[in-house]
Amino acid sequence: MTCDLANPIFTDEAKATEHMEADRWPNGVNCPHCGSLNVHKMAGKTQAGMFLCNDCREKFTVRTGTIFARSHIPLRKWLMATYLMAASKKGMSALQLSRMLGMSYESTWFMCHRIREGMKPADPAPIGGRSSVVEADETFIGGKAKNRAYAKKDPKKHAVMTLVDRDGESRSFHVANVKAKTLREKIVTTVSRKSYLMTDELASYEKVGKEFANHGTVNHSANQFAKLGGFVHTNTAECRFSLMKRAVFGTHHSISEAHLPRYLTEWDFKWNTRNITDGERAALALKGTEGRRLTYHGPH
Ligand SMILES: [Zn+2]
Repeated sequence: MTCDLANPIFTDEAKATEHMEADRWPNGVNCPHCGSLNVHKMAGKTQAGMFLCNDCREKFTVRTGTIFARSHIPLRKWLMATYLMAASKKGMSALQLSRMLGMSYESTWFMCHRIREGMKPADPAPIGGRSSVVEADETFIGGKAKNRAYAKKDPKKHAVMTLVDRDGESRSFHVANVKAKTLREKIVTTVSRKSYLMTDELASYEKVGKEFANHGTVNHSANQFAKLGGFVHTNTAECRFSLMKRAVFGTHHSISEAHLPRYLTEWDFKWNTRNITDGERAALALKGTEGRRLTYHGPH
């Protein structure tokens, strides 16, 4: 996928379909029902993009078995939305995208969430490892009523924990609370115990820290950021939180608890692909959508 929005894959449905077929089946089209390579393209005008499997006799298109399967949205719009979401540093609101794509807000909103599903790590292997530093930090988001004079009470705050390998990947979670047991469960299933764990002095980290090769703590209140010549800090995670608060929650004004994990997925995905180009990132997001089925169903 190129970065050029004038690319015909974003405007011409046949070109978009060809692009997705080449991307999904680089070594020849194979049947998503039985895996056979013995397939042929159907010729009728109403059968554009349709294949027939000569072995199992099932029909399929490039959408079959992907998150696009139940969608009536043209593939060129899916491609455009995937590209725009992957390329935008701060994220794009469904409202913004719906205007750009000329689609209803509701359809765009569902499309955005499906694309986020494609951004989940394909292989969520533990992060960190020997001689890696993994920072853990927690923050609270939401909770501010827009208009305090009229709001009856502040909306609920949500705790989010981020685990970030200074030189590698990041995983963020919506957690029920920041108690030791809750945080430990996420940390030990996400971070390799061979890592150097770096946290603040929250008591919840004390015990779990002992399970790791090393545990460094930063005392925020004492403003002790430069401990050990600058090695002991949680600035990577903190910096990501302030960016997240500004970008994600500035772009998407109200994020419900149910959908929060998908925004976190998008946020991690952008960090984890920070060293590749926008075009490569978009291609990766697209690849993710191909291997996944919908885990929830919308009206479109
Ligand atoms: Zn087949």
